[in-house]
Amino acid sequence: MGELKPCPFCGSMAWVHNRTVFGGGLIGHRVECAGTCHAMTCWWHSDEDATENWNQRTEQTSSKELEAQVKAQPDCTWILEDDE
Ligand SMILES: [Zn+2]
Repeated sequence: MGELKPCPFCGSMAWVHNRTVFGGGLIGHRVECAGTCHAMTCWWHSDEDATENWNQRTEQTSSKELEAQVKAQPDCTWILEDDE
């Protein structure tokens, strides 16, 4: 697995979250920010894909560009959860 880059939003370390998704039939992998901004990728079938997706997004330093891209891809997006 490739190396995870820091979160593009807050600069925190990121980690790969592996869990059973889609009703228990598949193991999904996504990268999540370990900090407080809760940025994460969508679920991927392999951790390599999740890592690659995360690292691609981190190359975009502008959060506005990233936000625009998220809105353009509603079916496979990063989820940005606001703190409650
Ligand atoms: Zn973050």
